[in-house]
Amino acid sequence: MTNELKDEIRCLAKEKNALILAHYYQSLDVQAVADKVGDSFALAKYAKSNSADIIVLCGVRFMAESAKILAPTKKVYLPAENAGCPMADMVTPEDVLMLRAEHPDAAVVCYVNSSAAVKAVSDICCTSSSAVELVRGLPEREIIFVPDQNLGRFVAEKCPDKTVHLFDGYCPTHHKIRESDILEAKALHPNALALVHPECRTEVLNHADYIGSTAGIIDYALASPADEFLIGTEIGVLEILQRDIPNKRVYSIGATFTCPNMKKTRPEDILACLKGEREELILDPEEQRLARLALERMVA
Ligand code: SF4
Repeated sequence: MTNELKDEIRCLAKEKNALILAHYYQSLDVQAVADKVGDSFALAKYAKSNSADIIVLCGVRFMAESAKILAPTKKVYLPAENAGCPMADMVTPEDVLMLRAEHPDAAVVCYVNSSAAVKAVSDICCTSSSAVELVRGLPEREIIFVPDQNLGRFVAEKCPDKTVHLFDGYCPTHHKIRESDILEAKALHPNALALVHPECRTEVLNHADYIGSTAGIIDYALASPADEFLIGTEIGVLEILQRDIPNKRVYSIGATFTCPNMKKTRPEDILACLKGEREELILDPEEQRLARLALERMVA
């Protein structure tokens, strides 16, 4: 990205009272023009708690939707309009309603990586860092967990007194990491700590030294006295850590794993949003109201 483009984006953002928010998995160029970089829920909460008129959410669709749900009076833009999340798209509201009919006593817990329409038919949302505690605290003994089977299985293991009905969704990026990848990486770097996202398969999580959200992994590595880390999540986290702790050794578990949708945003797309050349994100008002209830229950 040229300095001219960066300056043009920053000047226009200031002039329009716009806030540029970028997920950790965005390219470093996109992160360089952002006001804040964070994980999906931190960004949505930040969108709500500031006085900007416009939010440009550099991420995938469900993230922009969450920002709009929590900050309904602001104009929200998704710069790469075709950036979806394959895992979020695996579950539909009809799937949730069918599961509800099969398990009428169960509470529906929906991972924030889901569409507004799915959130709207769920009882409560969770993040990867809050899922275990949240399920533990629910009065219902039966839980329907959507859409991520890997996070759901992790929660079920940690909450043995609950019956968790899993949906078969998964994140194609995290699901690609295999047990053989983590075993080989550990054999190659025996002193490294393996930091892994709970969207990974159980057989990968079983060998992790730390399991946590994207923000959790970054914070853990920054605070840890260890010198070597194996990272089991999207390549964006690896790049951030290699930049921020250059005196330590940070490796990917297996090949590097990239979420193609997260890499669709270009700085030029952000500029187009700020110039008003893109459509703002509009949600169905009733869907937005119901989804907000599920998100606010999580926050409460
Ligand atoms: S990394 Fe996985 S969960 Fe995150 S946006 Fe990409 S496909 Fe969706």
